[in-house]
Amino acid sequence: MTSPVELLVVKSVRAIDPGAGLDGEVDLVVERGRITRLGPGAAREVASSERARVIDGSGRWLLPAFVDLHAHLREPGQEYKEDIATGLAAAAAGGYAHVCVMPNTKPVNDTRAVTEMMLRRAAEVGGPSLHPIGAITVGQKGKELTEMAELKDAGAVAVSDDGVCVMSSAVMRRALEYAKTFDLPVIQHAEDHELTAGADMHEGAVSARLGLRGWPRVAEDVIVARDVLLAEYVGARYHLAHASTRGSVHIVREAKQRGVAVTAEVTPHHLLLTDAAVIGYDTACKVNPPLREAADVEALRAALADGTLDAIATDHAPHTSLEKDCEFSLAKPGMLGLELCFGLLLELVGKNGLTLARLLDALSSAPARIAGIAPPRLREDTPAELVLVDPERVWKADALRSKSRNTPFLGKELRGKVLLTLARGSVAFDGVGS
Ligand SMILES: [Zn+2]
Repeated sequence: MTSPVELLVVKSVRAIDPGAGLDGEVDLVVERGRITRLGPGAAREVASSERARVIDGSGRWLLPAFVDLHAHLREPGQEYKEDIATGLAAAAAGGYAHVCVMPNTKPVNDTRAVTEMMLRRAAEVGGPSLHPIGAITVGQKGKELTEMAELKDAGAVAVSDDGVCVMSSAVMRRALEYAKTFDLPVIQHAEDHELTAGADMHEGAVSARLGLRGWPRVAEDVIVARDVLLAEYVGARYHLAHASTRGSVHIVREAKQRGVAVTAEVTPHHLLLTDAAVIGYDTACKVNPPLREAADVEALRAALADGTLDAIATDHAPHTSLEKDCEFSLAKPGMLGLELCFGLLLELVGKNGLTLARLLDALSSAPARIAGIAPPRLREDTPAELVLVDPERVWKADALRSKSRNTPFLGKELRGKVLLTLARGSVAFDGVGS
């Protein structure tokens, strides 16, 4: 466990915190893990202190640290893919101070004991805060509801059966009713499994050409439509995981206009890639839900820009090469996300109406609000949860901290690099000198 920063100064940096209405050049002073001074010339008296570490902020941006709503850190049970220590290290390198972790571990996080074990492990490791998401149903089998009161009491911030969809309308209704009494959002992996049986990729012209079984858009859309109606009927909070289709964007937008308490997230890969990436049978591009078509990517980008899609979530899903270097149909779905997210998405600013402020909100404040976490803020007298980035730095995505390597972006050049991450007032990642 790392100790809080004693005295850190960042001089003449562009600080951007849309939630605090801040965008301007400032000095930052962090003392004993807290932001104590923030403003033009704020470091004047302390910068010369021998105890201070002083970082030149010119040409760099200071941002509230990022919050991920959706990561698979694989511990307990599949530590050969990732564990809490490597997963949190990857998160810190990506600029994250908070990571919400999905319950599809082995055993499934459907009890207080597993939730507490994850939190204990994360506290030992230090770095970004880990927030367990409990299962909706026992064993994620879609039948019997978990003891959500206990899960919440142990520290769970939401419930989800992610990896599988809650298929039964009756179970979903009861889950929404039960979760509502504890003010927990219900996060759905929207996939009608009967419509996607045996599917390897998006159903369309490319799947037909490759001879791979297709996962049609409508398998997501029908579940989202049903869930929105159930959430509206029950008056509960519903959150859509990894929206991938123009249809679900349409349904969520319309539901929000009607005042339904629905929120949604989108992954970097669904914002950047289409099913054409699968040509050549690149298993690194096998994800669930699958990469869609250009029209979906356009709709997702526009929906991120206008806030219909509230948050960016990585769906960080590590797998070993053994699970990926195989026939496409046998390969496990999922790709890494935590380390490369910012460098991948910065280039979307200015496209489809996406502003920098909205991108930063979607990476930090919006997901924090959904999970009930206090949003990281650039403000005096708050805990230091912040990230220093170089928006112009071109770097190669290779030296990853994750145990796995399953991303099609491996070795690619990205513009925009995380230099320093402070989480829980401590330095969680330090790449200033590199
Ligand atoms: Zn999922």
